[in-house]
Amino acid sequence: MHTAKRTHGFTESVIRGMTRLANEHGAINLAQGFPNFPAPDLLKEAAIAAIRADVNQYAITWGAKPLREALARKMQAFYGLAVDPETEITVTCGATEAMASVLLALVDPGDEVVVFEPWYENYGPDAVLCGARPVHVPLPVGEPLDLDRLARAFGPRTRAIILNTPNNPTGKVFTADELAGIAALCQRHGVYVLTDEIYEHIVYEGPHIPIATLPGMAERTITISGASKTYAVTGWRIGTIIAPRELTAAIRKVHDFLTVGAPAPLQEAVAKAMDELPREYYTGMADAYRRRRDLLCGALTTAGFRLVPPQGAYYVLADYSALGSEGDVAFATRLVQEAGVATVPLSSFISDPSASRRVRFAFCKTEDLLEEAAQRLLTFAGR
Ligand code: GLN
Repeated sequence: MHTAKRTHGFTESVIRGMTRLANEHGAINLAQGFPNFPAPDLLKEAAIAAIRADVNQYAITWGAKPLREALARKMQAFYGLAVDPETEITVTCGATEAMASVLLALVDPGDEVVVFEPWYENYGPDAVLCGARPVHVPLPVGEPLDLDRLARAFGPRTRAIILNTPNNPTGKVFTADELAGIAALCQRHGVYVLTDEIYEHIVYEGPHIPIATLPGMAERTITISGASKTYAVTGWRIGTIIAPRELTAAIRKVHDFLTVGAPAPLQEAVAKAMDELPREYYTGMADAYRRRRDLLCGALTTAGFRLVPPQGAYYVLADYSALGSEGDVAFATRLVQEAGVATVPLSSFISDPSASRRVRFAFCKTEDLLEEAAQRLLTFAGR
């Protein structure tokens, strides 16, 4: 049977694979990053109201006007960034479609795309889908960005760099100096920044700085975010793209042909959340995540894992060398079977899996579930 060559290098998503394994074993799923707590009532009521009002047909392909306008107001309020909702915003089916649409719209076959390693699972396959070549730059956990190393990755074929801050899976929040260094390189080489800021409001050591706010960067930055993490609705699939007018025109065409549009009633609800949830919602959410982070990181350390506490996002990479000598896929499998806790092996996020002795824990869970996971891990470790 024939299948297209572009798919041959792809493997099944390890994140989703671990979720299935967790379900088979009744394990606590700290693998796939989705919250187990409710979304804000305001958001849910607004979605119900929109469906009752029969907002059931296609929204405008590039996004319902109330959502684009609410996002423009939010970017102004949080970051002082002026965005034109008519020409510079596209709403997509999650940040995942956003990144794919942006790459397909801006990158040609043969172009190079710089990707930090470890990376989020999708970036490599996204680049491959457009015939581009991902160029990996190591970004070790807990270390500052090595700008000289990054500079060496830029060449005549470099079209774009993918940035993800706060970062999945490392928990890094890029500093102002690091972002300025990246910005200078991109300006010198005429390179676009594709920045995935889906964890923008989940920051412990910040602030979160959108690279689009740096001088001269809005014109070469494509900012991706969405409702999934900020409002605990990963299944709603509402993503957003902010890009300069000419780039947006190309991105909207790709998005239209891929998916036509994101769910119309849910766009109305996210617009209302952006407009009406107070600042305390966002600070309260970050505080709650900080407590979850401290709970899980404390338990992991007691159990014998080694880690650097994340500065943002809701994942922690933990070294298990004191608890096992096998490779990380084998260890993650054993952790599901023997401890009843599911994780993602780091090898899913790096190019040389053989050396990895780390797994990723997601802590976007209620404290009682994290306490239960902590107990299981301590028992597993014999502590
Ligand atoms: N972003 C989440 C994670 O990294 C969910 C990934 C997914 O399954 N789409 O776990």
